[in-house]
Amino acid sequence: MALTRQHPEAVIAAGCSDLVAQFREGLEPEVLISIQRIRELRAISNEDGLLRIGSLVSHAEGSRSPEILSSVPALAAAWGSIATVRIRYRGTLGGNLLARRYRYEMPVILSALGAQMQFQGGDIAALPVSSLWDPDPGNVGILTAVTIDTPSLLWFGYERSMRPLSTVSLTVRKNPQAGLTVTAVCGSEYRQPFVLSHTAEATAITELDPAFVGEVLAAQLPDEAGDYSGSIDYRRHLVGVLCRRLLAEATGNQRKGSQP
Ligand SMILES: Cc1cc2nc3c(=O)[nH]c(=O)nc-3n(C[C@H](O)[C@H](O)[C@H](O)COP(=O)(O)OP(=O)(O)OC[C@H]3O[C@@H](n4cnc5c(N)ncnc54)[C@H](O)[C@@H]3O)c2cc1C
Repeated sequence: MALTRQHPEAVIAAGCSDLVAQFREGLEPEVLISIQRIRELRAISNEDGLLRIGSLVSHAEGSRSPEILSSVPALAAAWGSIATVRIRYRGTLGGNLLARRYRYEMPVILSALGAQMQFQGGDIAALPVSSLWDPDPGNVGILTAVTIDTPSLLWFGYERSMRPLSTVSLTVRKNPQAGLTVTAVCGSEYRQPFVLSHTAEATAITELDPAFVGEVLAAQLPDEAGDYSGSIDYRRHLVGVLCRRLLAEATGNQRKGSQP
């Protein structure tokens, strides 16, 4: 961490699977700091319902972690479904997020889960994953871990069958006072992820109407979510279908994170 304060312009290297592409794209860093051997960044824990995943955890490790499998099994399944075998062993959680590429999937998956990024060695201590594309937050230093609050989480699922056009990550959470909040994050290779949300008075997931909630969520997609590969009308239709599909699974199967 002292090194990052000394060299705020330094580029951080984790698994280097994306960095190689960045070098080809013209990146020529003067200082490169490798964090590969910092063992603490590989830890995964779940204390009092706060799931903490170290930034150096690879896609393969994340998909097999006992802590994740026992608390949010569908997160492990979603994580294990991305990339290729070789990249799953090489690529890390931190690299997937901090590469800040629209086509990468962990920002979509983790934003719906309300995940927070924890940093050290920069000007910022924590940021929600959903803020990845906000205006430049300055020197963030090293991403050390991602945390997810699990006690209020009733259901999580991820749909990537229409990738690269559209992906949807969806959670249902119990509100502190009453009701349920459904959060869907719509991703695509061509546009930044969009967070869509609906609060229902329902007391149980089975009371949610998948068609109605899917339509309400999809209608929130802003016009700029359209692009040359799909008009906004088509994208809203697609997101509505994917949300409805996930909610149909959620209402039919209430176990936490049960959708693979
Ligand atoms: C062939 C191929 C297929 C792929 N398919 C998919 C796919 O289907 N879905 C998908 O989501 N992704 C996919 N990816 C992307 C892959 O998941 C990422 O390349 C990988 O997660 C990046 O991790 P890394 O450790 O190699 O990052 P690096 O290459 O080391 O770093 C990437 C960026 O993140 C920064 N960084 C890394 N770690 C930290 C940290 N702890 N703190 C601060 N900054 C950090 C680096 O400075 C750099 O800018 C694919 C990649 C390839 C090459």
